[in-house]
Amino acid sequence: MTSAWSDADARAATARYAAAGIGEDLALRTYSARLLGADPTLVLHGGGNTSVKTRAIDLFGEAIDVLHVKGSGWDLATIEPAGHPAVRLAPLLRLRRLDRLTDEDMVGALRQNLLDSGAPNPSVETLLHAFIPARFIDHTHAEAVLALANQPDSPRLIEALYGARVACVPYVMPGFALARLAADIHDADPNVEGLILLNHGVFSFGATARESYERMIALVQVAEDHIAGSRRVAAPSPKARVSPTELAACLPILRGALARAATDRWPTHWVLETRAGPRALAVADDSRLADWAARGVATPDHVIRTKRLPLVLSSPGGDLAAWRGGVDDAVVAYASAYKASFARNLARFPGGKTALDPLPRLVAIPGIGLVAAGRTAREAAVAADIAQSWAATLLAAEAVGRFTPLGEADTFDMEYWSLEQAKLGKAPRRALEGRIVAVTGGAGAIGAATLAAFAAEGAEVVALDLPEALAAIEGAAAIACDVTDPGQVEAAFASLCRRFGGVDIVVSNAGAATTGMIAEIGAAALRASFDLNLFAHQAVAQAAVGVFRAQGMGGALLFNASKQALNPGPDFGAYGAAKAALIALMRQYALEHGADGVRANAINADRVRSGLLTPMMIAARARARGVAEDAYMTGNLLGQEVTAADVAQAFVFAARMMNTTGAILTVDGGAVAAMVR
Ligand code: ZN
Repeated sequence: MTSAWSDADARAATARYAAAGIGEDLALRTYSARLLGADPTLVLHGGGNTSVKTRAIDLFGEAIDVLHVKGSGWDLATIEPAGHPAVRLAPLLRLRRLDRLTDEDMVGALRQNLLDSGAPNPSVETLLHAFIPARFIDHTHAEAVLALANQPDSPRLIEALYGARVACVPYVMPGFALARLAADIHDADPNVEGLILLNHGVFSFGATARESYERMIALVQVAEDHIAGSRRVAAPSPKARVSPTELAACLPILRGALARAATDRWPTHWVLETRAGPRALAVADDSRLADWAARGVATPDHVIRTKRLPLVLSSPGGDLAAWRGGVDDAVVAYASAYKASFARNLARFPGGKTALDPLPRLVAIPGIGLVAAGRTAREAAVAADIAQSWAATLLAAEAVGRFTPLGEADTFDMEYWSLEQAKLGKAPRRALEGRIVAVTGGAGAIGAATLAAFAAEGAEVVALDLPEALAAIEGAAAIACDVTDPGQVEAAFASLCRRFGGVDIVVSNAGAATTGMIAEIGAAALRASFDLNLFAHQAVAQAAVGVFRAQGMGGALLFNASKQALNPGPDFGAYGAAKAALIALMRQYALEHGADGVRANAINADRVRSGLLTPMMIAARARARGVAEDAYMTGNLLGQEVTAADVAQAFVFAARMMNTTGAILTVDGGAVAAMVR
């Protein structure tokens, strides 16, 4: 680990922030906090915290001592000066005289002493930063240090490696008690460069931002050198790697098992993210996996993202039907064990605690790696990052000695600590969170509007379209796929399963109109229309139903039919015949897969501006009918132009109509001739 400090960058940051009225201390604090945040082996996703003690001018124009300390909700990687709100220092220092202070009173005292009452809550570790007199203080959960701080003999090991440079602090939950203990240990040895908190992390101190930061780097380097020089973990016997095709088949099974193990109160739809890097596989493939997975988290802050223990599954090993039963049993057993652990620990809280869902957030699978589960793709990615960090810490700790993290009771206290849960935020859950939605023709007008409408409901959305069309897509995940090629459709769904774990809602939307009078149209043109407007829908539906059945969670198949299917217009026979057959196809899926919980419905939209109805076509058709273009577009019972967003909303509604299947929903502003009868 080398220092990333650059005097030129530090000066540039100081100048940039000075222009916004920010003083040098806070500017350099922000600069070096970001250096820490940029290294995922030091801190991850809101972990760690930093501070500087300086002076500020209050409302009376008087200079007062303040502590700028990281505010809740900020991430060191992207922190700005506002992410280190100022707290009056003198009242915080007085708190040290108290024998005890409840969490509520501590948070209240911190908020009361903010200079800006609108600032975020200062870090739960603020009092530790206040009680230790160093001007700059940096705190990380560095993997290498955690490997040393999670050992049966951590104090002896740390003393042997660091001598008088650091002091050890026994594990105490963050808050007032830890702040007092750490400050007392520091005061007994005021020349230490930092503190190593057992089972938790490392603090460094400095008179300047650079000194504190570079001491952090140096302390981590000592740990890294020791790990590098220690005996290696025996290389795991290489396990048969699960092929990409098998992985795509395995993840929907796991996703379904999570849904089946959820009771009424718990979320059923999870997004999965798989990590199969060298460390994830080194842990998942090791014969000691079951033992390792029963130990705990590398630092207790991680428990809210990953729970204390990962679920361990067997390797799928070719027989997916047998594996499926094992996965269901293992998830149910995990949930029971979690509930039992909750009940055991609840006894210590006379006021009670509200149980969180009992489902795993991490799953270790030999031959696959580490799979994270989240309510959103973002949550899954955070849990997956932390899983990799856990694997790195565990392997390093095992290289040095024995990975011995915090036990069940202390980890429970952290998992169920209100101040920790507050970090997850209280944003209301959205209706389609956890749902994975694929939209074919995703780059077109209706496709893009549909992706946006599902994303607004909290779903993860993926566009399938031709590679050249996808170049224009922003903000949605995309898979290149020519839907008229069944092989490409299969591959696209496999890719979807590897990326997210499965699929719940498929909007089969890609289509194009071939024009010409039916008696004159060439056979090739007619076949091409059927390839895209019927057979491609069949390939998509087939692949979707394959995933739906593997998950066993039902699913929604939504087809973009057309007015042509019900109310043919001249010159659109090749298109209309295929679309009429598409409605028959939809009904057949509704009939044959209702028992699988699969709902198949079609949207019948008309006169929507899109690649199919271009400005030129609108002009031509309006001319042919002798009306103005606007009148043509609003020529329906409601007298309103139908937009791509209207069609998108209809797809969202259809996906949410849990007891509707085999239906055609019309979105055309009202046209008697096209009414479904
Ligand atoms: Zn910490």
